[in-house]
Amino acid sequence: MSVASEKLMVSAGQGCVDRPVLKQRGQQEVFCGLTGIMWLHRKIQDAFFLIVGSRTCAHLMQSAAGVMIFAEPRFGTAIMEERDLAGLADMNEELDTVVDRLLERRPEIRLLFLVGSCPSEVIKLDLSRAAQRLSQRHSPQVRILNYSGSGIETTFTQGEDACLASLVPSLPSEPDNAPKSLLVVGALADVVEDQFARLFEQLGITHTRFLPARLADDMPPVGANTHFLLAQPFLTDTARALEARGARYIQSGFPLGAEGTTEWLRAAASCFGVPDAKFEEVVSAPRTRARRAVQQYEERLSAKKLFFFPDSQLEIPLARFLGQELGMQTLEVGTPYLNKRLMAAELSQLPDDVVVSEGQDVDKQLDRCRDAQPDIVVCGLGLANPLEVEGITTKWSIELVFTPIQGFEQAGDLAELFARPLNRRTRLEV
Ligand code: SF4
Repeated sequence: MSVASEKLMVSAGQGCVDRPVLKQRGQQEVFCGLTGIMWLHRKIQDAFFLIVGSRTCAHLMQSAAGVMIFAEPRFGTAIMEERDLAGLADMNEELDTVVDRLLERRPEIRLLFLVGSCPSEVIKLDLSRAAQRLSQRHSPQVRILNYSGSGIETTFTQGEDACLASLVPSLPSEPDNAPKSLLVVGALADVVEDQFARLFEQLGITHTRFLPARLADDMPPVGANTHFLLAQPFLTDTARALEARGARYIQSGFPLGAEGTTEWLRAAASCFGVPDAKFEEVVSAPRTRARRAVQQYEERLSAKKLFFFPDSQLEIPLARFLGQELGMQTLEVGTPYLNKRLMAAELSQLPDDVVVSEGQDVDKQLDRCRDAQPDIVVCGLGLANPLEVEGITTKWSIELVFTPIQGFEQAGDLAELFARPLNRRTRLEV
């Protein structure tokens, strides 16, 4: 994917995130938003993701998900042929037929997402009208929504943001007199979600719900008494949609590592008036376990130099965790997009000498990376192999999205993910 201008700009940030940001507009090496279907289809167990795309989109999904398919998958591609793209066929009619056939064959589907792609966008196929039309036909058995996963509009994790944002208008309304409730937003592995649910319950925050829910009919209600906490950093549009429904945003960093998780829980606890003593009583044992688990990797990782290419939007919270809890030194942290409001707590904890870059101009960034001589580079799959060939140790950023890394119990595993490639390189050099 390429973006027109090659300009390089440096602009100053504001307030607690007041630091220069290197803005880059050039060639990018990132996945498109279709990739989010990989984890979303496993999370919402009765949903189906129908990509309206080309053979390229189908191949991307097959190669990315191929090794994970054990049963009939809950995603597929309605492949647009040349005559569709040339406007020679009625795409809406064809789409309706595909959806009818799919829902007849798979009666367990309760929520169907029509997912737009580059080709469907190029021919301006109106998937929102298609979703409304098909919803009328298949309601109430199946709800049909749409969002875009196209590489023209979205990168990698923005697919999840677009998916969740499309869900928000259809969430039930919470009554005005409902008790104050907590909504945790962002797809988490079930095991992590269960751990957080237990911690919130122990803190006395009893009305806690998660978006997305595991089943279509269990999606949480939202209203003026809903206070939401983001579990993932890439949910700009979802946060905006929730605020439009009256929900209130709890400002916080993200639950990576012992300290990150503590501060994330503390943000919710303060919002719900949990006394400090109670907070310490609940958090202290799992935090100690997490600190110990992380410390095992400190000797291996401390003072190692890191370089992040933009990919998942997890880069800034990861740089904070690796610096704060393991003593690693980030040279540059790249992110596809920087939402300073959602990222304020994380940015304010990064040392001043870390270069923060937004967007990408890949050749220039590769030059900066080689000059900086990092010990480990976090990047997408497309850059990893060429860098390894040059003798640079890499970590695939996609692994950090597929692996459960949030929360106290996963803090040690998260540290290990960075120790592993360094160990592998050491073994190769012996
Ligand atoms: S949506 Fe676009 S970038 Fe993604 S696989 Fe399809 S054609 Fe490629």
